[in-house]
Amino acid sequence: MSSRPLSSLMLMVVSAGMAVAALVAGTPARATPDGPLRLERDVELDTRLTQRARYSLERMPLVDGQSRPRHVSASMDIAKGVITVRLDRSFLPADYGPAFEDQRSIINNGLIHEAEQFAPVNAVKYLYDGKDVDHYFPEIKAADDAAREAGERRRQGGGGAGMAFVAAGHGYFLSHRTNAWVTTRDEHHGVNEGLLTPLYAAELKGLVEARSHMPVVRPRVQDAGPIHEDSGFEWWTMAARYAIARQYPGETSIWNTYAGSTLWDREEREDINSRPMLANHLNADVAIHLHSNADDNGTARGARVITQPGRAVDHALGRSVLCSMKEAIQSQPGYESFVVAPAPHEENKGENREAKMPSIIVETAFHTHPDDARALLDPVFRTAAMKGVEKGYRLWAAGKACEPLVGERIARVSLPSGGAEDVEVAFKGNPEYPLRLVTVSAHCPPGWTCTEGTRTIASPDQPHAIRLSCGAEAVGTLTWNTHIVDADGVASAPVLHLVNCG
Ligand SMILES: [Zn+2]
Repeated sequence: MSSRPLSSLMLMVVSAGMAVAALVAGTPARATPDGPLRLERDVELDTRLTQRARYSLERMPLVDGQSRPRHVSASMDIAKGVITVRLDRSFLPADYGPAFEDQRSIINNGLIHEAEQFAPVNAVKYLYDGKDVDHYFPEIKAADDAAREAGERRRQGGGGAGMAFVAAGHGYFLSHRTNAWVTTRDEHHGVNEGLLTPLYAAELKGLVEARSHMPVVRPRVQDAGPIHEDSGFEWWTMAARYAIARQYPGETSIWNTYAGSTLWDREEREDINSRPMLANHLNADVAIHLHSNADDNGTARGARVITQPGRAVDHALGRSVLCSMKEAIQSQPGYESFVVAPAPHEENKGENREAKMPSIIVETAFHTHPDDARALLDPVFRTAAMKGVEKGYRLWAAGKACEPLVGERIARVSLPSGGAEDVEVAFKGNPEYPLRLVTVSAHCPPGWTCTEGTRTIASPDQPHAIRLSCGAEAVGTLTWNTHIVDADGVASAPVLHLVNCG
């Protein structure tokens, strides 16, 4: 959160039933009365957001049919967490595709970073000459509606085939502009997104199979070595589209959705589509798309999840995944303060839009930030992040809330000298077994020997107890601290408890 002085803020407040906006200087913008407030605007924030949007729009490579917008403004409804960007329609491309969506993500990431120093953002909306993008591209809206409705029918009909779909983002595709095999993501700080995400997908597949007991399909080729003849690159580096075409040559509706097109990026478009189309074809229970994130000035950081606007189920899955990612990542030494978004950001993206099952895009960290890039390349971070994704999915699928591991009060016990007793260690949370119950001395009376101990609990069915005892001659009170450490290194805060001896 921001540390800038609140007294410098300008706050515009519109209350229900009051059409006139009052401009109030020096009012803290975070103070939201319980009353009839519906909208909060911060003039200074809006100015900054407009500047940030302009910065991105002046620099980004244009897509066919676009020209740079002459009019750019951005403003935020703080109460709703929605930023609205207003552009002229000259910024609309000739047709809607992943390059246009990527531009929007770059603008969004700059705006979200700017705004979230101040207040959380749920979504960034765009108006082109005052109209939503759906107005200009009704076929995208139709595809969005169709997949969402199919997903709702499917849920009522009993769900999927008992399998998870895990897709690593990007990989090489054939550009028909240069007739070269290219990847859309440049290397930053040693991270080439399309070549790194397969490591994340392999990690997540193993975890889902071991812990969620569910088979996992990955669309891209997994084994290193074999060469994709047309490109000369190894198969595992190729975009999903090519692996799917090889495996399902007859299913052109999955991987050849731009058949007959002359667009230069038609194979990249087909790649984006092929992932949700294959997940639909296989009737997967969930689709998880793994990416790393980017902005255009190297300042944004942290883990985020993107869900499709208007899909509450996917949003809940995304929230659970972020909550568990935070727990798993921040349990690792060196990552205690790694930023994980508290809630998904809504954005219209082809990978989620076409999926008929709950579908999320996990943007594990920003490869454009040096510290995040270092994390992305660290196997410890990778394992922790993917443990979080799996756990978030598993808890969500079981209808369980993600909650922090917290030890409950431990009973005070009184024992005769030489006596011993098992004392229950209860907790809240969803730890991974085996657990360790670690008891260390908090106060040991002078001259006593207080022996610290760890008990391992292999499964939830076992009693969760520690043994407390008093020495043969012991008379007095000693205090212990007991905390829980789970198999993933997630630890509860210590709980202080007393033993009276004698
Ligand atoms: Zn990506």
